[in-house]
Amino acid sequence: MISDLEARQARDPDVHGARLFGLVYPSGRPDLEALIEDVNRRYLFGNALNPFKFVELAGMEREVIDAVGSLVHLAGGDAGGGGAMTGGGTESILMSMLVQRERARARGVARPQIVAPVSAHPAYAKAAHYFDMDLVQIPLDAQYRADVDAVGDAINEQTAVVIASAFNYPYGIMDPVTDIAALAADHGIGCHVDACIGGFMLPFLERIGQAVPPWDFRVRGVTEMSADVHKYGYTPKGASLVLHRDADWFGHQVFLYDQWPSGTYGSPAMAGARPAAPIAVAWAVVNYLGEDGFCEIVRGLRDTFTKLRAGIESIDGLRIVGDPVGPVLSFEGDGGVDAYAVGDKMDDKGWHLNRNKTPRSLHLMVSPAHAQRADDLLADLADSVAHHGDARDTAARYS
Ligand SMILES: *Cc1c(COP(=O)(O)O)cnc(C)c1O
Repeated sequence: MISDLEARQARDPDVHGARLFGLVYPSGRPDLEALIEDVNRRYLFGNALNPFKFVELAGMEREVIDAVGSLVHLAGGDAGGGGAMTGGGTESILMSMLVQRERARARGVARPQIVAPVSAHPAYAKAAHYFDMDLVQIPLDAQYRADVDAVGDAINEQTAVVIASAFNYPYGIMDPVTDIAALAADHGIGCHVDACIGGFMLPFLERIGQAVPPWDFRVRGVTEMSADVHKYGYTPKGASLVLHRDADWFGHQVFLYDQWPSGTYGSPAMAGARPAAPIAVAWAVVNYLGEDGFCEIVRGLRDTFTKLRAGIESIDGLRIVGDPVGPVLSFEGDGGVDAYAVGDKMDDKGWHLNRNKTPRSLHLMVSPAHAQRADDLLADLADSVAHHGDARDTAARYS
C-alpha cells in the first residue's frame, strides 16, 4: 500500500523541491519543519469544535488571533475587535462577506453588492454565489491596482462592502487601501482588506525597513481583514484568520442554535468539527519564530525576490507586470516573445510556473526555499526565452 502511495506521490509535483510556486510555501528551515511535524503529530486526532471541552486549545486559538491582531494593529480587548481562525483564506473571506451581507440587510438592502477589483481572489465571487449577493467588478488602473475612481462610481445604495487586496495574487501588487477604505468610511459600509498572502509578509517587510503603503487597521475605514497562516506563516494547509475591527461585526459571523436535543450548538465559522492540528501548529510557529524569527526569514526572502526580479528584468524579452511589493510577481513577454511559450519551455525543464490570462504572463510566488534555486531558475528562464518557439497554449488555470 505505502509503495503504491509513494509511486502516486512521485507523479505529483514535489512539494519540497522548490520548483513549484503558489500552492506550497516551503520555509527552507529544517528546524521549523521538524517542529511543525512534531506538533502536528501531537494534535492530529484532536477536535476544535467544543471550546468548553478543549479549553487549552481554544486558548491557543485566542492567542494566535491576538498575536496576529496586534501585528496588524487591531485594537483588541476592551477596545473591541474580534476574529476567528478558519480553515483557509476562502473561508475567512466567506465569513466576512456573510457579515457584510447581514449588515446590509439590516439597513434594508435586499440584494447586497460586493465591489471588488477584477484582480481580487475568486473567493469573493464564491461568496456572492453562496450568499445571494452580487459581485461588481472594478477595472484596474495602468499600474494594475484597483481604479479608485471606478470604485467611487460603483458604490450605491446596494453596496455592502468594498475590497482591497494587500497584496493581490495575480501580480503581487497593493491596491490603494487608504483611498478605498476612505470611500467605505464615507458611505458607512464595510471595507475588507484581503491580506491572505500579505498578512504574514507586510508587517515584517515594514519592520526590516521596506516602504509599504498603509494597508492594515491603522487605516481609517478598514473593517475586516483576512490573513492566511498557511501561506507565509509556513504552516500546512488549514489555517487562516478573519479579523473584524468591531466586536459587534464579529458577532454576526457566529452561529448559535439552541433547538437541538443535545443542547446549544455554536460555531464561529463554516466548519463544525474542526481539526485541532492547524491551530496548535499556528500557535507553535508564531511563538517559536516570534517577530524576530519572521523578520529573519523575510530578510532572506526579500533578497531572493530582489535577485529574481532584477534577473528577470535583465532578460531581453521579459517585462515585470507593474510594481509588485514582493515576494509575488508576474512577467510578460516583450518584443515578440510570448510568455506562454516561455512557460512551456520552463514546464519541459521541470518548473511549475503558473500562467496569468491578463496580461498574458507567467506568475512567480517566491518562498524562502526558492533561494537555493534562484540561479537555476534565471538560467533556465534565459534559455527558455532564447529558444522559446510556439506556445502550446496551455490554459491559465489555478484549480
Ligand atoms: C490564497 C488567497 C486567497 C484564498 O485562500 P485559500 O487559502 O486558498 O482559500 C484569497 N486571497 C488571496 C489574495 C490569496 O492569495
